[in-house]
Amino acid sequence: MDTLTYAKSPAVDRPLIKEKYEHFIGGQWVAPASGEYFDNISPIDGKAFSKAARGNKEDIEKALDAAHEAFKTWSKSPAAERSRVLNKIADVIEDNLELLARIETIDNGKALRETRAADLPLCVDHFRYFAGVIRADESTISEHDEHTVSIALHEPLGVVGQIIPWNFPLLMAVWKIAPALAAGCCTVVKPAEQTPTSIMVLMELIADIVPAGVINVVTGFGPEAGKPLATSSRVAKVAFTGETTTGRLIMQYASENLIPVTMELGGKSPNIFMKSVADADDEFFDKAVEGAVMFALNQGEVCTCPSRILVHEDIYDRFMERVIARTKAIKLGHPLAEDTMMGAQASNDQFEKILSYLEIGKQEGAEVLAGGAKASLNSGLENGYYIQPTIFKGNNKMRIFQEEIFGPVTCVTTFKTTEEAIAIANDTMYGLGAGLWSRDAHELYQVPRAIQAGRVWVNCYHAYPAHAPFGGYKKSGFGRENHAMMLNHYRQTKNMLISYSKQKLGFF
Ligand code: NAD
Repeated sequence: MDTLTYAKSPAVDRPLIKEKYEHFIGGQWVAPASGEYFDNISPIDGKAFSKAARGNKEDIEKALDAAHEAFKTWSKSPAAERSRVLNKIADVIEDNLELLARIETIDNGKALRETRAADLPLCVDHFRYFAGVIRADESTISEHDEHTVSIALHEPLGVVGQIIPWNFPLLMAVWKIAPALAAGCCTVVKPAEQTPTSIMVLMELIADIVPAGVINVVTGFGPEAGKPLATSSRVAKVAFTGETTTGRLIMQYASENLIPVTMELGGKSPNIFMKSVADADDEFFDKAVEGAVMFALNQGEVCTCPSRILVHEDIYDRFMERVIARTKAIKLGHPLAEDTMMGAQASNDQFEKILSYLEIGKQEGAEVLAGGAKASLNSGLENGYYIQPTIFKGNNKMRIFQEEIFGPVTCVTTFKTTEEAIAIANDTMYGLGAGLWSRDAHELYQVPRAIQAGRVWVNCYHAYPAHAPFGGYKKSGFGRENHAMMLNHYRQTKNMLISYSKQKLGFF
């Protein structure tokens, strides 16, 4: 039976969103070469709320022209100047946080309490972080011998292509734009076709701050706008976040041009609860219970969604009783309502995909411990893409344990020993995130070291500070985002070896 409570539709004052958005190229709004626009559908009610320009190769070429022109000066600008621009962008986002949070919610369907408390503050912090680190960055000077000095300088890669997914439209764009600009690159950004609006509104807000052509945004579909960008011989690098299959294509394109790529792809992250969780005080036990329910954050549309729960068999009954109760207490509803805890899935395609996995799980014989269906008929949410937070019980060989569902669905299984927990955790083609919950000092270090994943949260989950490197192992991708190391993903190193000796070289 559906025991969920639903948040009521609020009498929302909708932010002002334009009827249609053109491309943002060279600091100007530019109509699409094709003259065509496509509907942007809000997952809240399945209705179009705006239109976006349908970009193609011609638009991408215009954007590349603008970016190459801007690169001539931006790449030579002092770090202090780039830092100033990044700080100003951060200020503008902060001043317009509520507006951008609401637009992001309408565009993507995630609850306002998340866009307001997480997505937007993280965008601000990422710009400020890269505004800071670029100033602390120094060239390396060393003496090869007493007459020869070696100077290693960083130079920006050039004009880069950045391809964005729909699950955190603004934040994923910011993760890419901030380090690229800090490093002295100019960018052509291609937002996901499902969620182009919040990025265009950000461009409206910062159009006067960023020199023309430094950031260019061309909206459109993957094969029409994304492919000409990723295949262009005029980009020095492609940064991509999205599905593993698309990532493979982008790598093939990049191999033709011999350019670097960074790939942030899918995941099937294990969240492991050791026996000692039950020995802990009530406060920690309760935190661990919430940690298991974090699969519902962002409606599960997070590449690091803790979509596999591994629980020690001795604590299973006590722990899962609380996890199931907490999951059933999640308030699903209109994402702009203040009391909504979980909103709508980002698109109808994603909604249908998740529903099909709910069926696959049932057919595979997995037990439904919570949810297992879309929002019920009398909930007032029938027209939007709402799915109940769902917990399956099964085993790690099942498809629902192995394939990325990218929805509010987690699958629980048990283990007897630490070795078994590690083996199950690593029995996946992915390696993006993982969680470990324990009170044992040895486990707290040894288990994360044994897990094949780029990020292991220990006694916490879903934190994304700008200074912590983030990225995948195995089929979850390569390259990192966040952290000062990102600067070097957007730069190349120039070494100058300077001789102060008058002695001949001695060869000829
Ligand atoms: P997707 O791969 O379908 O689309 C991502 C972007 O690529 C979109 O902008 C799309 O238009 C573009 N694209 C599609 N085909 C293209 C092509 N042939 N050439 C160039 N561009 C093309 O993925 P999605 O559906 O937007 O995102 C969901 C997936 O992204 C999930 O699998 C999720 O795991 C993953 N993801 C990973 C991370 C991470 O940090 N690792 C973050 C968010 C999402």
